Amino acid sequence: MTKRGQIRVIRVDRKSPVLTRTSFGCLSNVHTLNVTRGCEFQCVYCYARGYSTAPQSGRVMLYANLLERLSKELNSPRRHYPVRHVAFNTASDSFQRHPDILKITYEAMRLILERGISLSFLTKGWIPDRFIELFSEYTDFISAGIGLVSISPEYHRAFEPGAATAQERLSNIERLESVGVKVQVRIDPIIPFYTDDEKGIRSLFEELAGRGVEQVVLSYLHLRPAIFDQLKRELPSTAFKLLEGCFETQRIVEVGTSTRTKLCPLSLRKKGYDRFKEIGKEYGITCLVCACKNPDMPAQVCVSQRKNTAITPKKSQQLSLFPC
Ligand code: SF4
Repeated sequence: MTKRGQIRVIRVDRKSPVLTRTSFGCLSNVHTLNVTRGCEFQCVYCYARGYSTAPQSGRVMLYANLLERLSKELNSPRRHYPVRHVAFNTASDSFQRHPDILKITYEAMRLILERGISLSFLTKGWIPDRFIELFSEYTDFISAGIGLVSISPEYHRAFEPGAATAQERLSNIERLESVGVKVQVRIDPIIPFYTDDEKGIRSLFEELAGRGVEQVVLSYLHLRPAIFDQLKRELPSTAFKLLEGCFETQRIVEVGTSTRTKLCPLSLRKKGYDRFKEIGKEYGITCLVCACKNPDMPAQVCVSQRKNTAITPKKSQQLSLFPC
């Protein structure tokens, strides 16, 4: 249940393959797998909610036959491309709270790990202990991403009403690290004027440094038209107006597979990233800028890249695949 009302989880059978091979951006040549269509967290900035295939608000479609299909696909001798890595829930979240979603996610992850295939996820949810126990047996096969933009409860209420609290996500970091799983923290999407002020950054970095985090990946909010309407409907009007003003004069540009996206003004992003980097130094935290979501500036990292290598992706590779 979210603060905006009851979420209905509807079981449906998936007709198409559950493993989809991507050929773009930071997830080039890996397979993706979504356990649900729609996500119960209902973040106001979520661009997956604006997809034409997204279920209506308040509904999440759970693929009830996913395990059966996954097993068949993994065993299929006709597969052209071997499955070496599976990126979970690129248009939803792996750790939504509904027990049926968690059950299928757990079994799917187990199936994949038992076959010696690595997996990755990026979550704004709470990871139950049984997953941590599972991951502890496969630490070299897990790339864990925790999304955390702010520790302010006001921010959480307004922008990520159904997601786990900041404390729950900090606990994810602690518990994953305690069993040897390396965690990448993504501060994404940074909301201009809300989560990029010095005080907010310091509070967040203090918590992260206290959990031994030494590196974070940054990216500012970018807007697609469908998200714009969503923000208008769901944010308090003062918050919406501030964001509207920020994006008002920005051109609609092509970013990867999205042909209609507005980036935050470049000067604002540069100043903001510099602020994060400067404050980060005081806490021993290195800040990398996500290359996929900042196609107009030199940046450092993609979802799957672990090394601090400066890259500017080719136009055809610029993409923000994860909605969070
Ligand atoms: S941004 Fe991520 S966590 Fe939030 S609603 Fe979208 S898919 Fe779910």
